[in-house]
Amino acid sequence: MANIIAGTAQLPDIWLRPRIADRSALAGPISPADIDDAAARLARFRPALVGAFAAQGWDGRIRSELLDYAAPGEAPALLLKGDHDLPLTGSIKARGGIYELLVLIERLGREAGLLTEATGYEVLLSEPARAVLARHTVVVASTGNLGFSIGLAARAFGLGAQIHMSYDAKSWKKERLRRIGATVVEHDCDYTQTVARARAAAEASDTAYFVDDETSRLLMLGYATAGRELAEQLDARGIAPTQDKPLVVYLPCGVGGAPAGITYGLKTIYGEAVVAIFVEPHASPCMLAALATGAVAEPPAVYAFGRDNRTIADGLAVPRASALALETVGAAIDGAIALPDSEMLDWVGRAWRERGLRLEPSAAAALAAVPRLLAAALPEGWPDLQAATHIAWATGGGLLPDDEFERLLGAP
Ligand SMILES: *Cc1c(COP(=O)(O)O)cnc(C)c1O
Repeated sequence: MANIIAGTAQLPDIWLRPRIADRSALAGPISPADIDDAAARLARFRPALVGAFAAQGWDGRIRSELLDYAAPGEAPALLLKGDHDLPLTGSIKARGGIYELLVLIERLGREAGLLTEATGYEVLLSEPARAVLARHTVVVASTGNLGFSIGLAARAFGLGAQIHMSYDAKSWKKERLRRIGATVVEHDCDYTQTVARARAAAEASDTAYFVDDETSRLLMLGYATAGRELAEQLDARGIAPTQDKPLVVYLPCGVGGAPAGITYGLKTIYGEAVVAIFVEPHASPCMLAALATGAVAEPPAVYAFGRDNRTIADGLAVPRASALALETVGAAIDGAIALPDSEMLDWVGRAWRERGLRLEPSAAAALAAVPRLLAAALPEGWPDLQAATHIAWATGGGLLPDDEFERLLGAP
């Protein structure tokens, strides 16, 4: 493959910013007002989502629990954000993926004159609306979870869904997509190349709408709304992060859109009182590579560092980070940690045995990163992390089939 260069340059396993970033580090084409707008749109859509997923009995809210992982009182405090159990989709991709789709559906409904000031959003479930929406196909590249969230929401509103999947996509994730009526296009290349192929397929069609995981500000805004959700949950627990007693969030990172959106949302609220740590597989440390080398304007591929992008964490198997993620939070990410697959697997087992949590390796990575950071030599000026509240963001796995999950638990 042309893009594999013999590895010479070395990457560290952990990269930490000398000083915790504050709000002024945020940049790029999204703003706090855009997050307000996204939250308001999600609220407007609730009745339509309830109707579209009536059979599943969903309340139309994309919201997850904040759980205790460590026993209360144990130091340091460790909580878990349960996006692995997000309704319908079982992954964090519901936040960005469903949000971008709703923006599209709202626009198509308005352009057709069906959704107006006088109607409610349920009108989008009517036969005339379905006829309009059925003329459009959503195209997206995915290693599995993004395609499922987008495919599920697209099919529920009657749009077509064409999901392009990279070599690391698991076959059960492909099967699940076919069952909901999505078209699965299989590629024998990595995620970065699959995105390029999906983009080309969409450009060649008049009826396609491409969800671009590398450049989409709408995806990022959907993820960013999670910042407020978490802030409400922390308020309810009486946790008020400060610079001395910060919140440390461990965010599994693939292309970077989800952790970037969440970092943006949280830094907007908490500034330097939140420490954002991105977590990646040792084989695919694309964000760490960009940060550690300073190549944030043109993120490098991990192959240049002798990494092969072969990892059990299919949700994180991305060789090149999103330039948009780097533009928005490249100066606001406080640290990046790269972990071997064995540590993620170890934590898949621990999370199951200790707390009954069904996590995929990509999500267990967040937990595995906690002891890594606590054991690291911190830059001078960083707060004492023993006094911090640590939150592992569990990004997926709730819908893992039993046999898949048992295979993970049995893996050496
Ligand atoms: C997609 C995904 C991530 C990371 O999101 P990116 O936007 O690709 O960085 C993390 N965990 C799981 C389970 C995912 O599916």
